Amino acid sequence: MKFIDQWLRKEVQDIKAYHVPSSINMIKLDAMESPFLVPQDLIRPYLECLSEAALNRYPDANAEEVQQTLRSLMDIPNELDILLGNGSDELIQLMSLACETGDTVLGVEPSFVMYEMIAKFTRLNYHGVLLDENYQINLNTTLEEIHRVKPKIIFIAYPNNPTGNAFNRETILTIIKESDALVVVDEAYYAYCKDSFLDEVSNYPNMALLRTVSKIGFAGLRLGLLIANKDTVRELDKLRLPYNINTLTQASANFLLKEKSHIVANARIIVNERGRLFEELMKISNITVYPSQANFLLVKVDDAASLFASLIESRILVKSFAKHPQLKNCIRVTVGNPEENSQFLEHLKSYYG
Ligand SMILES: *Cc1c(COP(=O)(O)O)cnc(C)c1O
Repeated sequence: MKFIDQWLRKEVQDIKAYHVPSSINMIKLDAMESPFLVPQDLIRPYLECLSEAALNRYPDANAEEVQQTLRSLMDIPNELDILLGNGSDELIQLMSLACETGDTVLGVEPSFVMYEMIAKFTRLNYHGVLLDENYQINLNTTLEEIHRVKPKIIFIAYPNNPTGNAFNRETILTIIKESDALVVVDEAYYAYCKDSFLDEVSNYPNMALLRTVSKIGFAGLRLGLLIANKDTVRELDKLRLPYNINTLTQASANFLLKEKSHIVANARIIVNERGRLFEELMKISNITVYPSQANFLLVKVDDAASLFASLIESRILVKSFAKHPQLKNCIRVTVGNPEENSQFLEHLKSYYG
């Protein structure tokens, strides 16, 4: 037996590593990234700004300016506080670390896989409650399960990944009211969604909101935020590693996220393209496309594995859920730039034509 196998705790041995496929020379539509780079006219001043960063020093421990930048970018009210993470994944981990060993984390299924993975990393139980056949929350079943397993944290992605829909607002509010858990509404896709829970956070001490800049053009920065009531942020902040937001991320965020207009304009392009993709996909027989409020579409086909393989042949990378029990024969495609989307559409039209 290898050293590591007898040394490692069983839960970690059993975890399937988070797989990131190679995407060299591919049209990359698998990870909900934005297709837009930093605008050309900003590159010089941006580099100048980076050149002034004091890399010999530790970063600003609280990243105060980044907090202000995000506050104005996202219109976060003053009565709420912000906790910054190295991606929102780090904040999911931090909330999980705040629980006692053996506590339960509850999520809906299918949803973002990191809720379950991080629960396992941090010695918690994960309990998934199935969505109904239209990927909506079944309120009665979910409340029953909440009362039965008494979760410490409930994660609800709004809109949901990988299904793309935003759940019923009243359903989520009822879950928040009816449960003693910390209910985390994960708005990673807020920029593409009509509605938000930002104005509800101050009404519920057991509610927190997660956001990230990953899906609005800055996945490479690794910067996420938890927006919650001051008491919650103060206590959770004790678990944050010092200097978790590095100097280059802080400098970049303060330069690139100050100007809201190009972020809003890019989001508008993606929402338009999502509409175009949806309409065109609807015209193809033998496939089902689900309505989405995020920057991706879930598409059900008759044989996802072979479609995926033929897309790979054309150097188009999407996410395949061929064998997933609730997403059988589904693929998830990120909305890219107009040209990328057209290539994806052309491929599907000729594949099914
Ligand atoms: C992509 C995604 C995240 C991850 O965000 P990072 O800030 O990149 O760690 C969080 N939640 C959901 C629902 C996501 O889809």
